[in-house]
Amino acid sequence: MKVWIDQDLCTGDGLCEEIAPEVFTLLDDGLAYVMEGEKIFRDPGGPQGLAVIPAGQEEAVIESAEECPGECIFIEVG
Ligand code: SF4
Repeated sequence: MKVWIDQDLCTGDGLCEEIAPEVFTLLDDGLAYVMEGEKIFRDPGGPQGLAVIPAGQEEAVIESAEECPGECIFIEVG
């Protein structure tokens, strides 16, 4: 499973980072980005910044996507 964020829709509330801090991080521009370990998918973000979800984090990522007020967390299976 992979995940990306559409930063154009992100409200910057930080809910995703609270639920799954291993996968999501809020940066100094006030927007959330996905991570793969130490690597932050910022340039480019959006659909080009597709991070593999680590084992055991899938449920937290799904919950984040469900709770996300911007509805801008997108999960891709496969
Ligand atoms: S939960 Fe959604 S809107 Fe909120 S910071 Fe994360 S990606 Fe942005």
